[in-house]
Amino acid sequence: MEITHLETIPLTHALPEGQGLGDARGFGRTRATTLVRLETDTGTVGWGEAFVPGSIARATAEELFVDDVVGMDPFDVESLAVDSYTDPYHFSESVFVQSLVSAIDVACWDIIGKTVERPVHRLLGGTERSTLRPYASTMYFTEEDRPLEEPIREAVDEGFTAAKIKIGAGLESDVERVRVAREVLGDDALLMVDMNGNYRPEQAVRSARAIAEYDINWIEEPVPPENLTGYRELKQRIDIPIAAGEAHYGRFEFKRLIDDRTVDIVQPNLARCGGLSEARTIAKLATTENVGVRPHIWNSGVGLAAAVQFAASIPDYPHTRNVPEPMLVEFDRSENPLRNEILETPLDPTGGSLDVPQAPGLGISIDEDALERYRAD
Ligand SMILES: [Mg+2]
Repeated sequence: MEITHLETIPLTHALPEGQGLGDARGFGRTRATTLVRLETDTGTVGWGEAFVPGSIARATAEELFVDDVVGMDPFDVESLAVDSYTDPYHFSESVFVQSLVSAIDVACWDIIGKTVERPVHRLLGGTERSTLRPYASTMYFTEEDRPLEEPIREAVDEGFTAAKIKIGAGLESDVERVRVAREVLGDDALLMVDMNGNYRPEQAVRSARAIAEYDINWIEEPVPPENLTGYRELKQRIDIPIAAGEAHYGRFEFKRLIDDRTVDIVQPNLARCGGLSEARTIAKLATTENVGVRPHIWNSGVGLAAAVQFAASIPDYPHTRNVPEPMLVEFDRSENPLRNEILETPLDPTGGSLDVPQAPGLGISIDEDALERYRAD
């Protein structure tokens, strides 16, 4: 079997004027990503996602990948990551290179699964899970003046029993947002907060101590992702677990997060971290320091499906075998047709449980008409 075509498909969706949403660092009005479609000489098609703008993804693919990938056997998928470290030499830690590796790797696994007629999570090994616990990513900072509790109440009404909210815009605002979220969610739900790296360590410590009484499951990116000394300092000074990883790529960066338990939870994004092969390596590294793994997901339906397959395969060892913890998967609750409309059957997180697709490969079918609606080329 060999790959005969590699196509990049840039997708974009613009939010209406005045309806931007975001985090403590600012608002965004565009949802954009790039799909990679591989086709083989047997006619099998595989899909992956590179979470980078389309023009960059296309140029990177054409300059660095097409010549090697066309003609490759998709079963040689594990060679992609290794090749990215050696050829092109010195480019490997670029987010653009790793995003393309992610997309091609995931598309290869999709093809492998379809060829051997198994869902990808069964091929990745580890513990099998048929259901996951979705958490609502919500309570964004918005340009619109909406009641603070509205989005979290919507999530509760949809059946979510876990949620992550945006904070990081100042101590008073943090406490108020967390108080409202906890009140609406109730005492039994899991509550995570995301500071999007907007604080210096001292500010993050003050906020973490002020919100601790609301039982926080993790604080995400309390300081900028590059500030590893900040993570280490916070670890010594606060009692809430720290999570990071959405802005990290490849095993070498994740090793720095995992070493000496710099953070408690790593969050590889399957459209940036190097793909399913690299995510599996990261998950194994994490077991050596007893660090948790929970994928970061702010992607199209393709990146979401890859993350769900990965989450279903993450080993329990060593932290949850006898004291079960839910395998949480992030489910963005903001409007994004690239997540829902491009799948013929969108993944359904409502009701507090997410069924892992059992169809071969990523377990999804792409609605190619929908792709045409959001194509940006
Ligand atoms: Mg985040």
